[in-house]
Amino acid sequence: MTQAEERAATAAVATGEQPLIKCLVWDLDNTLWGGTLLEDENVEVTEAVRQVIIELDARGILQSVSSRNDHDHAWARLEALGLAEYFVLPRIGWGRKSDAVRAIADELNFATKTMAFVDDLPSERAEVAHHLPDVRCYTAEQVLELLGLPEFTPAVVTVDARRRREMYQAGFRRKAEREEWQGPDEDFLRTLDLVMRIGRAREEELVRVEELTLRTSQMNASGVHYPVDTLRSLLSTERDEVLVVSLTDRFGPHGPIGVMLIEKFALVWHVKLLATSCRVVSFGVGAVLLRWLTDSAARAGVHLIADFVRTDRNRMMEVAYRFAGFGDHDCACRSALPAADGVQRLHLTPARQEPPSTMRVLAPELRVRGSVEATWATS
Ligand SMILES: [Zn+2]
Repeated sequence: MTQAEERAATAAVATGEQPLIKCLVWDLDNTLWGGTLLEDENVEVTEAVRQVIIELDARGILQSVSSRNDHDHAWARLEALGLAEYFVLPRIGWGRKSDAVRAIADELNFATKTMAFVDDLPSERAEVAHHLPDVRCYTAEQVLELLGLPEFTPAVVTVDARRRREMYQAGFRRKAEREEWQGPDEDFLRTLDLVMRIGRAREEELVRVEELTLRTSQMNASGVHYPVDTLRSLLSTERDEVLVVSLTDRFGPHGPIGVMLIEKFALVWHVKLLATSCRVVSFGVGAVLLRWLTDSAARAGVHLIADFVRTDRNRMMEVAYRFAGFGDHDCACRSALPAADGVQRLHLTPARQEPPSTMRVLAPELRVRGSVEATWATS
């Protein structure tokens, strides 16, 4: 790449025209390792290529395989090389590579424009490029340059980016068990040992909180984007709460999956934002959060008012609020809040709630500043 091309590529990534790569699909023979496995049982991976794989993984970029080989044979070699754990959803067989890349993207729920493919053979790259023009293709010679390319260089590497692959791997195991489960869904949830942790956000979590306000359009109650600077200013006030929600189960962490912004007035708590990740809708996370909040407000003796702005995608969130008892009733507490145009203000006079039977909830006491997290219990 010339310097001019490199600048153009950097600009394209910065403006979002060329989104960051979320998954790189590797060819094996003469690309990941030297030589072909059918001719040499003991193909080797250079230290430089190994470092590329490890570093991409640390940046939160997933990696997969599309290779023309016998699956068990090739996978055994990747295991022997100590590299198998770095690859998700490998497609090793004799089909078309464009089909493999598409299947991997579909399974991950990634757009093809966030997928990349590396292969030494021009014919394979041409086949993928023909059927999937959005997929970015690289030659084997480019492998050692990948770490320097803007599309493989996220501006910030968050804590959960570093654990992203493990989260996906846990997700695949969880999904497989769920599909095999015969009984009612709620019973399956109980087998997971789900723990929801609601915590006051720490400085290093703000980037992820901002991401959640941006990306969770289906489950975002007000559609408002909160930049990191705004969130940071909320951390230092007595009145505001920036809460991060994460979920774990026996398969591993789901990572941060929700955010709640609350401004506490004397008689009413104002929920300015509630957003949860679409990935965990099936765990009933939104309903559990609202029940916990309702119980907390009841114990504190305050009413709740939640902002809701209807978008074409967040109807599920309105349903969750209405189901939790929020409504349009008149109440004197409404006058405590500054007026806001175009925002629906859903009101609730809270009552004590039972903790859920499907998960354990760890949360701080919202009425007490600096309180430690404790298990939500009835007494
Ligand atoms: Zn009220």
